[in-house]
Amino acid sequence: MSHLRFREVEVAFNREPVKVEIPKQVPSEYYGMYVFNRQTMYKYLPKQTYDALTDAIDNKKPLDREVADSVAAGMKQWAIDNGVTHYTHWFHPLTDGTAEKHDSFIEHDGKGGVIEEFSGKLLVQQEPDASSFPNGGIRNTFEARGYSAWDISSPAFIHDNTLCIPTIFIAYSGESLDYKTPLLRALNSVDKAGTAVAQYFDPEVKHVHSYLGWEQEYFLVDEALYAARPDLVMTGRTLMGHESAKNQQLEDHYFGAIPMRVEEFMLDLEIECHKLGIPAKTRHNEVAPNQFELAPVFEETNLANDHNLLLMKVMAEVARRHHFRVLLHEKPFAGINGSGKHNNWSLGTDTGIMLFKPGKTIKENLRFITFICNVMNAVYNYNGLLKASIASATNAHRLGANEAPPAIISMFLGKQVSDVLDSLVSSDKDDNLKIAGKEELNLKVSQIPELLLDNTDRNRTSPFAFTGNRFEFRAVGSSANCASAMIALNAAVAEQLTKFKEKVDARVAKGEELDDAILAEDKLLIEESMPIHFDGNGYSDEWKAEAQRRGLDCETSVPVIYDAYLDEKAINMFKTTGVFSEIELKARNEVKWEMYTKKVQIEARVFGDLALNHIIPVATRYQSILLDNVFKIKSLFPKEQGEKIAAQDMANIEKMAQHMQFIKDKTSEMVEARKVANKIEDQRAKAVAYHDTVVPYLDAIRYHIDKLELMVDDEMWPLPKYRELLFIR
Ligand code: ADP
Ligand code: MG
Repeated sequence: MSHLRFREVEVAFNREPVKVEIPKQVPSEYYGMYVFNRQTMYKYLPKQTYDALTDAIDNKKPLDREVADSVAAGMKQWAIDNGVTHYTHWFHPLTDGTAEKHDSFIEHDGKGGVIEEFSGKLLVQQEPDASSFPNGGIRNTFEARGYSAWDISSPAFIHDNTLCIPTIFIAYSGESLDYKTPLLRALNSVDKAGTAVAQYFDPEVKHVHSYLGWEQEYFLVDEALYAARPDLVMTGRTLMGHESAKNQQLEDHYFGAIPMRVEEFMLDLEIECHKLGIPAKTRHNEVAPNQFELAPVFEETNLANDHNLLLMKVMAEVARRHHFRVLLHEKPFAGINGSGKHNNWSLGTDTGIMLFKPGKTIKENLRFITFICNVMNAVYNYNGLLKASIASATNAHRLGANEAPPAIISMFLGKQVSDVLDSLVSSDKDDNLKIAGKEELNLKVSQIPELLLDNTDRNRTSPFAFTGNRFEFRAVGSSANCASAMIALNAAVAEQLTKFKEKVDARVAKGEELDDAILAEDKLLIEESMPIHFDGNGYSDEWKAEAQRRGLDCETSVPVIYDAYLDEKAINMFKTTGVFSEIELKARNEVKWEMYTKKVQIEARVFGDLALNHIIPVATRYQSILLDNVFKIKSLFPKEQGEKIAAQDMANIEKMAQHMQFIKDKTSEMVEARKVANKIEDQRAKAVAYHDTVVPYLDAIRYHIDKLELMVDDEMWPLPKYRELLFIR
């Protein structure tokens, strides 16, 4: 086996960069060439169809059948012109990632031949036999009755010679079985609620859009080394491995020169992204060795999320061309930084106003403060839920470690905004009136310097930070579907904005001036949500204690964190915003618990196999070499001298024996714990059992394996080591 390791190291080491052919055109010419965007639509659709479709998209109207038929015909022609033979309804099941079922365009022509056929019906709706997708018991598996329906707000695209139609996936009974459906519902609800409040400031506003700019972090590992690590292949992370002598201490990787092989990969990926209309913009090294990041220009949230999901798939494909494997796991390597996917999020109006951007006039700043306060309150009220929205078996390894925000959601506002809010709360009624009367500007509401705000102190330890014109939800994991976080956040903010509007309207009905009413409610929100505001060091232990005192959700067990979806407040919020019914919430939690259990279960199995069948045999062999040596020494040298010479080996033999004993004992205990947990029927209880009784073994045993790695002859060690995985590229 160790021969395999060295062979793979050699292969990886000698690899040359795979040169990428740079397109002759400039990016603006090939940008979106695989997307059925408005330009292409205009070319391929009759004018009437084009108008009807864009009207339906812009004004969120349903498509009638005739239009759908005409769109399908144009889309098919475009696809065929691009060499496409198949089409698929592309959807986002509750596993992370995407799913598709490919059908060819071919239909019988009734004369013994075939024709290329693609009707409006096939475009708009499909019935994937998707019985094996998780559904939390909503759909009886043997019935397999779910269907996918075209989401016209996200354009169709071509990938791998297939026409991909972004769709929602729902059960016949109407419950969503995917991420996209509730995301669209949440966006709709924040649109409504946001518009109502934005109209206080500008009656022309007709829609409020939610924007998302994700920053995708990832690791690259050479494919040969990857193949020699069963844990990476099976679980996406290394379950064992001692830190290498050089890690990220020098911080020389961050923003350092990008290695050549990687650079070619990034270039290739970017070209691919641009062809698919994904606005990839920045790329750079991340903190850890072999860790990188790609960020696009932000887009409307639904589209941005489709693009992120597509990106994750394309990344894996492009990486293969360069003999890399992409690791999207949140914590592929212990002891160095994990990977996140910061979700930069904002709201903006269809009149072009960014609602989290301070303005120049008092009125504009009152609007700014109003939206900030409402977000603050939503994040405060639903801090446990927001944490649940990003919690997973894999992200659990990243949160709470000293590199990512802790498993507590708090909000960073920066000094300037904090000062403004403080002075608002401490000011008396007279000051308010001055604002209303637009007289002397006593309050700092009018004095937030726009440019300075863009440079808010960058507190990297906060899970939810205000960064000038947006919030950055940093706790999201690198492998996650951003929709989960975006659903919870947009829905919570929608509910809050609706409540806010009711209260302001009630004041106005009683005769208060609108501006005064708004300011009074803003003040109440600031006071109420004070506990969520924390600008200090989120990594510190003091903060954990302080957060507890403030009553923030400090739960760290992922299966228990999921309970936040089912507390009364959340059920009610999701119901009133129309995002989830109680049935859906319950079903989804079943899926979450089940996924948690499965992930840990797989890790435990792979771990057991590696420990007993890879590590122990090698350690035993090495131990036996030492024993042999001791035996020879003792038989050659006089007793006392022999003992002295063999002392070191003897000590190592004993230490190794202890480590091995621990590994063997604890591995069987872990198997027993799994057996006990597996008998539990209830999904929540099972996941909790896995968390409480199985997970602790993984770390405990790993410690001893990593110690053995330091003792056993390097030439015999079977698994590629951290230094090889992290520094060869
Ligand atoms: P940093 O690494 O400093 O956090 P980056 O420039 O890497 O920032 O990424 C910032 C991301 O935030 C980009 O995807 C960018 O498009 C996005 N972004 C910028 N402004 C907004 C906004 N108003 N709303 C949503 N996303 C935004
Ligand atoms: Mg960021």
